[in-house]
Amino acid sequence: MGSYGDKDLWCHWCWKSGSCQDELPDGVIPLWDVDGVGLLCDVCMQLEEPPWWPNNRQRCALQLRESIGRLLPLSAVKKVADFLVSNDS
Ligand SMILES: [Zn+2]
Repeated sequence: MGSYGDKDLWCHWCWKSGSCQDELPDGVIPLWDVDGVGLLCDVCMQLEEPPWWPNNRQRCALQLRESIGRLLPLSAVKKVADFLVSNDS
C-alpha cells in the first residue's frame, strides 16, 4: 500500500479519487491494489466487476443472447457468459 506514497490516485473502474496511504486524511477514500486489475475503491471491490453497463461479462451475455439466446433459456446464457469471461486470459 505504501508504494504509491501520498499521490492522488483513482479507482481503475469508476475513477473515484482516493489514495493508498496508510493514514488517510478526512474525506479521502481508500484504494486497494488488486492483482491483475489495479487500484479499486471499496464499492468496486465488493461488486467484483466494473460498475459500468455493459461491462465485459454483460457484453458477452448480450452477444450470446443474440446468437444462441433463442436456443437456450436466459439463465443458461448468463451462466455461459460468466464461464467465458472468467476463463478469458
Ligand atoms: Zn471504484
